[in-house]
Amino acid sequence: MDNQLLISLTEKYGSPLYVYDAEKIVSQYNRITEAFSSVKSLKLNYAVKANSTISLLKLFNKLKSGIDTVSIQEVKLGLEAGFSPENIIFTPNGVSLQEIELAANLGVQINIDNLSILEQFGYHYPNTPVCVRINPHIMAGGNSKISVGHIDSKFGISIHQVPHIKRVVENTGMRINGIHMHTGSDILDIDVFMAATEILFNAAKEFKHLDFIDLGSGFKVPYKEGDISTNIEELGEKLSKRFNLFCKNYGGNLTLMFEPGKFLVSEAGKFLAHVNVVKQTTSTVFASIDSGFNHLIRPMMYDSYHHIQNISNPKGRERYYSIVGYICESDTFGSNRRITEIREGDVLCFNNAGAYCFSMASNYNSRYKPAEVLLYNGSDYLIRKRETIDDLLKNQVIIDLDL
Ligand SMILES: *Cc1c(COP(=O)(O)O)cnc(C)c1O
Repeated sequence: MDNQLLISLTEKYGSPLYVYDAEKIVSQYNRITEAFSSVKSLKLNYAVKANSTISLLKLFNKLKSGIDTVSIQEVKLGLEAGFSPENIIFTPNGVSLQEIELAANLGVQINIDNLSILEQFGYHYPNTPVCVRINPHIMAGGNSKISVGHIDSKFGISIHQVPHIKRVVENTGMRINGIHMHTGSDILDIDVFMAATEILFNAAKEFKHLDFIDLGSGFKVPYKEGDISTNIEELGEKLSKRFNLFCKNYGGNLTLMFEPGKFLVSEAGKFLAHVNVVKQTTSTVFASIDSGFNHLIRPMMYDSYHHIQNISNPKGRERYYSIVGYICESDTFGSNRRITEIREGDVLCFNNAGAYCFSMASNYNSRYKPAEVLLYNGSDYLIRKRETIDDLLKNQVIIDLDL
């Protein structure tokens, strides 16, 4: 995205601002489908929690993607965006049976991650097929830290409990139509992922009426220079072969599913903010922007790195800065960053702002959530308005106690 264009968007729509490049989203989507083109039936379900803005969901619907949802509210947003229920999978964790029933009644594919709910759901709805989320518990090498779905994780039903799942199926007469894992960890090492997949295939053989195998996500994108990212082409080649062989042995063509969030939208997004104040202290130079962790919480919450550039002065002399927000507590986007000279009024651009950025924004300090803009084919489209004071007031029931 061109610097001048981004600056002009902040003039047109105000600051701070989220901007997404539709073409980048489409090309990331196509990279996965091409990498797995030798699989007869492939289905991608975009993970809505990465960014749930309806216009982006509609874009995924156009691409023939399905969606992966983790709350009944995400299911409803998906329906609002035009997804048919069979293209929605509901993969919640720790929600009530009632919430799962609501989703099932809407015709959505249910994915259950604990034995208690599986048993209750199977007892009440033996005719609704469900997918089960398995925790493969795999460690790469002896004492390696690269664990995939580790033993203490709260997610999924332990691979060691497959006999118990089968007993529930027998007792209730329910059908398991899918096997799922989402390790949550970044796929850096393709062999580790292949090993986890092997464990899942082994479990899948135990169920005779499967329609699909869902390998979740974990596709990693680079956040900073030198970051390792998932080599999706290599993974596609290895895994497609293995999956096709599995289908042959299983005796039918199953659908291979993935549910990427970050991989599809992270790099497509930029976050733009203006510098309000440049402040020299005894130890550093702070640049304070017209935003804070209320708009982009990943650095404060996960220690995530988001690359920051001064797009108003890209050729300036480089200096070291701490980029901070305007929230009234520690609110740091990046410490000791080498950035071209920052002047008050400059526009800073944050990379990888498409995933888990707007969707985690809040109104803390009574600030408005930013606007969002989608770029496609040389045009810019406002897809979410900046909030106003009405948004802060709309659910408040104002009473005035007679003291
Ligand atoms: C969050 C989530 C995803 C997406 O993970 P990414 O790292 O963004 O690709 C996929 N599946 C489930 C069940 C999730 O909770």
